[in-house]
Amino acid sequence: PLALLNDATLLKTDALIDGEWLKGPARFDVHDPATGQKLADVANLGPKEAEQAIAAANAAWPAWRLKTGKERSILLRRWFDLLMANQEDLGRLMTAEQGKPFPEAKGEVAYGASFVEWFAEEAKRVNGETLPQFDNNRRLMVIRQPIGVCAAITPWNFPLAMITRKVAPALAAGCPVVIKPAELTPLTALAAAELAVRAGIPPGVLNVLTADGPNSIAVGKVFCASDTVRHISFTGSTEVGRILMAQSAPTIKKLSLELGGNAPFIVFDDADIDSAVEGAIASKYRNAGQTCVCANRIYVQDGVYDAFVEKFSAKVKGMKVGNGFEDGVVQGPLIEPAALDKVQRHVEDAKAKGGKVVVGGAKLQGQFFQPTVISEAKGDMLCAKEETFGPLAPVFRFTTEQEAIDAANNTEFGLASYFYSRDVGRIFRVSEALEYGMVGINVGIIATEHVPFGGVKQSGLGREGSHHGMDEYLEIKYLCLGDV
Ligand code: ADP
Repeated sequence: PLALLNDATLLKTDALIDGEWLKGPARFDVHDPATGQKLADVANLGPKEAEQAIAAANAAWPAWRLKTGKERSILLRRWFDLLMANQEDLGRLMTAEQGKPFPEAKGEVAYGASFVEWFAEEAKRVNGETLPQFDNNRRLMVIRQPIGVCAAITPWNFPLAMITRKVAPALAAGCPVVIKPAELTPLTALAAAELAVRAGIPPGVLNVLTADGPNSIAVGKVFCASDTVRHISFTGSTEVGRILMAQSAPTIKKLSLELGGNAPFIVFDDADIDSAVEGAIASKYRNAGQTCVCANRIYVQDGVYDAFVEKFSAKVKGMKVGNGFEDGVVQGPLIEPAALDKVQRHVEDAKAKGGKVVVGGAKLQGQFFQPTVISEAKGDMLCAKEETFGPLAPVFRFTTEQEAIDAANNTEFGLASYFYSRDVGRIFRVSEALEYGMVGINVGIIATEHVPFGGVKQSGLGREGSHHGMDEYLEIKYLCLGDV
């Protein structure tokens, strides 16, 4: 698939440190999850190069922070334009290494680029405050300054957007960044970095450190232990988030964490059922169920349960599964064999505990899994407690509003939640009762660049996107001026 790139020079396989492309002491392979075919080998860097990248970022910091917000804005805007001008090629790289259908991949390129556009604008709005004095000889002010060298560790499910959502606000705020992209999807990250270079982002301001699994762990330790790195932004599993938090304790590092979810999707009797079915399909099966905001548990009230299951299952039956480059495919492969095993385990466990497989339920050839619906799901099933991260939709039955709220909140996670209702009182009651960072009401897709994305409880710390997304990369400084 990569032979079809319009611009072959976007296929970068070396790491980027201080403006130089580095072959590295070793290489690791990147595969197409749809075919198993090797796509490329990429620089495999370790702790030594991580130190080098941190030093390069630190050296680039003074000049970068001294640029005006407007100067940084212009460079970011240029990067945005180049990302969009190369949407097809970035989408192609993404489908090849990640598997999501090509139209969905191009959609992610636009979504990923939108963070660069948004934060290019926000770069001009790092405003301070003046406060009333406590004494007439004093004047009190608050300024906001870049926190310093930032490290970003990103996952494979959104190979571009999870990078730009961190890097764009960091750069806009005046911070240099070292990115460690997911080992399964480094090609999109490197192509985006090449475009940043072409946009004129100075050497050392944006560094991409590629590494395989074991080296990623080692590099993570270097980031956490470094006194120079002042902030780590991580998107990935709660398990790894916990490790990074523990490792960052000695240096009291500021952390932004976007971790796992276990999203409830509640359909009340008074909902528009067709709209709920459509929202559930979009929320559940996007990216083959491999997003942290995918509906994981679908709760449907008694009165509409059977109708919902019937309409929902009919739609799921019609979904085309296959290689993301094929026309009409809406669900690609899962990212790796272990992901298939987890979905299979959840299906078998649900069956053993009384769940009924209404659609799908089985592995297909290679790394594909049938879009699956299980009805009569129960709270003791694995799929109720763990994030499946695959195309399995368990549908639970409930009777009262309070029962649905209690079930929805009965998890250590708190990222996205969804519910469908047309009763205005219920809409406010339920929205306020859900212990989640985000609530979709009568919609299944909620993410966009100018809203605060993030979770509560063990789903993480901080918010990405929106003007709040800049705060992660800024420190507040209070100035007290005397003898006025
Ligand atoms: P997922 O389950 O989505 O693969 P992970 O949390 O395992 O999520 O991985 C997300 C990112 O974290 C990847 O870039 C991966 O290389 C990196 N990673 C995994 N383990 C560690 C670790 N111990 N320290 C630092 N980074 C890690």
